[in-house]
Amino acid sequence: MSDSIFTRIIKREIPASIEYEDDEIIAFRDITPQAPVHILVVPKRPIPTLNDTSPDDAALLGRLLLTARDIAVAKGIAESGFRLVTNCNADAGQTVFHLHVHLLGGLKMGHNFA
Ligand code: 5GP
Repeated sequence: MSDSIFTRIIKREIPASIEYEDDEIIAFRDITPQAPVHILVVPKRPIPTLNDTSPDDAALLGRLLLTARDIAVAKGIAESGFRLVTNCNADAGQTVFHLHVHLLGGLKMGHNFA
């Protein structure tokens, strides 16, 4: 299977505004931000969707949340508030099939889920 757009970012084949990186995780700004802070927190392993994870991935999934929280702190939106979103498959509108968590903040959000 060809590399996802996020794998191409990880490999530095296409540019991105990288906010955080370690051995397992990369985080970069969304190219079409939906909020003043909109950062994608992405495991480097190309897991297509949350459906493709198992209990063996519990630590990695936990690290995605903790990394998102740490970035929220660094961006100064932890106290004002932030939202984490993971879309899974078509009905959720997933467009990039490489697991990721959207970190959104910097504005007051409503409760629209559709
Ligand atoms: P999804 O719809 O799969 O939950 O989210 C995919 C996100 O990736 C979208 O918010 C979209 O704007 C973002 N995105 C798609 N292509 C690129 C890209 O090439 N660079 C960056 N930084 N974000 C991208």
